[in-house]
Amino acid sequence: MTEQTGLKIDNTLSLLILGVAGGAGHIYDGSCSSSFLVLKDDQPICLIDLGLGVTRRLKDYGYCLPETLVITHNHTDHAGELPVVLRVESAQQRRLNIVAAAPVAERLKQHRMAEHAELFQPDELANWIDPAPETTIPLVNDLDITFHAAQHSELCFGFVISRADIPLIGYTADSGCFAPLYETLSHCQVAIYDARPKGSLWHAGLDEVAPFLNDHAYIIGHDMDEQSIPEGSRLLRPGQYINLAGDH
Ligand SMILES: [Zn+2]
Repeated sequence: MTEQTGLKIDNTLSLLILGVAGGAGHIYDGSCSSSFLVLKDDQPICLIDLGLGVTRRLKDYGYCLPETLVITHNHTDHAGELPVVLRVESAQQRRLNIVAAAPVAERLKQHRMAEHAELFQPDELANWIDPAPETTIPLVNDLDITFHAAQHSELCFGFVISRADIPLIGYTADSGCFAPLYETLSHCQVAIYDARPKGSLWHAGLDEVAPFLNDHAYIIGHDMDEQSIPEGSRLLRPGQYINLAGDH
C-alpha cells in the first residue's frame, strides 16, 4: 500500500488524490494516472476520471469504487479503464453512473466502449448522464455539477461541483492555459489545475498557471516524481487528502 500523506478529517467533504501522472507515466513507469476521489464522511461518493492505474490504486488505498464516476475526456489516462470496469461491475449486477459532458459522453460511447460493440451497447453497461456544457445537474447526494470547456488536444471539459449554488470543487481536467476556465474555478473552495513543468497549448505550464492560483489552488498532471515535490508545495502527490473548509 502506498503511504498516504496529509491529515484526514471525517464528517466533511474531502478529496483523496489517487494519481498525478499521464498515460506514459503509467505505461512506462507504473504511476497512477491523474485522478481523485470525492469522499463524504470518509466514504467515496464520486470518482473523478478512470485512467490507467486508477482502479488498482483505489484498492490499494482500501476504498471501493463509488457508484458515480465523472469522466472529463476520452484520453487513455482519463478513461482507459472504463470499458473493463463497466463490464466487470455490470457482470456483478452493478450499474455505475457515468457523468460526462454530452459531447464527451458521445465520444466515450462510440470510441472508448467500442471494444464491447459486438456484445454490449454502452447503455447496457452503465447509466450515462450527459448534460450539455454550462448546464447544472444533480451529481450525487446534495451535490451538483456543471461542465465547462477546457482547452485540450481532445474534446475535454473541466467542471465545478457545487451545493446550493455554492462552488466547492473545481477541476480544469486536461487544459492549456485558459483564462475563462480559470476564472470560473477561482470561486471554488478547492480548485485543481492541470499544469506541468514545461507547458504546451494543451497542458498549461507551471509558470503560465501561477498568476491564476489563489490559496485554494492545487496542481495535478505534473507527472513529477513525488520524492522531488517540496513539502507544502501546491503540486499534489498521490495519497494526499484535501479537506474542504466549513461544515458540509
Ligand atoms: Zn488529455
